Amino acid sequence: MEKLQSTLSAVKGLRSNVLQCFENLFDADVTEETRQKFLNEFQENFNNINTQLREVETSINGLQTPPNPYHLGNTTYLAQETTQERQALYPQLVNSYKWIDKVHDYSFLACNTLNQNNLRRSYIYCSQKRVRVFSAFNNSDPEHTDKLFSEINHLHTTYKICRPFGSNAVVIATISRVLKAAIVCKGVLIEWITVKGFDETLDPEDLWTESRYEVFRKVQDHAHSAMLHFFSPTLPDLAVKSYMTWLNSYSKLFLEPCKRCSKYVSNGLPPTWRDLRTLEPFHEECRNC
Ligand SMILES: [Zn+2]
Repeated sequence: MEKLQSTLSAVKGLRSNVLQCFENLFDADVTEETRQKFLNEFQENFNNINTQLREVETSINGLQTPPNPYHLGNTTYLAQETTQERQALYPQLVNSYKWIDKVHDYSFLACNTLNQNNLRRSYIYCSQKRVRVFSAFNNSDPEHTDKLFSEINHLHTTYKICRPFGSNAVVIATISRVLKAAIVCKGVLIEWITVKGFDETLDPEDLWTESRYEVFRKVQDHAHSAMLHFFSPTLPDLAVKSYMTWLNSYSKLFLEPCKRCSKYVSNGLPPTWRDLRTLEPFHEECRNC
């Protein structure tokens, strides 16, 4: 700090000497007689300035870069503009506050709505007990899922497991020569199913495109409601097996008549519903009669 003080004093001295020198030069009233004297004085002043300049340079070189910035106290605020009109900050602040208020409101509403969703299965908000149950089978290892599906044996169905989204499996089930289904699992919990015709392409990475046939779109709807029916957090493996057995009953989608009306086709569609317990085929409009 002392070094800095002396350097600053040296700079100050240099500046005042330079100023003095140029003022003398400006005010000088030089005649033929005083000319030599003036030149000598100027030379001397100039030499002094040179010497001082060298001293300043030396002391500047002797200074060390401070490791931390100096605490400047309230002087740091000097650089800030204090007039509101010139900052244009106020309207932006008001907008930000309004925006944050809205985010709060919307997230509060969204949180309430989501908490009321009884079909929620894989995300946990409630009791500690449920947390344990859910995490137990969300985290189950890929080998367990592979083993589970390898144990499922249906005569007309082949299973292929792939993992395009990381550790979670997508099981491609080909049921007879009737349909293909992509079953998205999270651990051993079935999250989603896409159903397509046997002749359609089923890309494991594009599971949101629906089948171009109405009959398979209908089967997919039913498969989704059955997925919720067979869901069981306490016996997840059994739930998957039961679901796959139910799904496998579509191997005779076009071969069996409706159990209620005994027709093969009603409203242009075969019986697309399968009873959850008996696996018997029904038309959608016949199942609740
Ligand atoms: Zn029917």
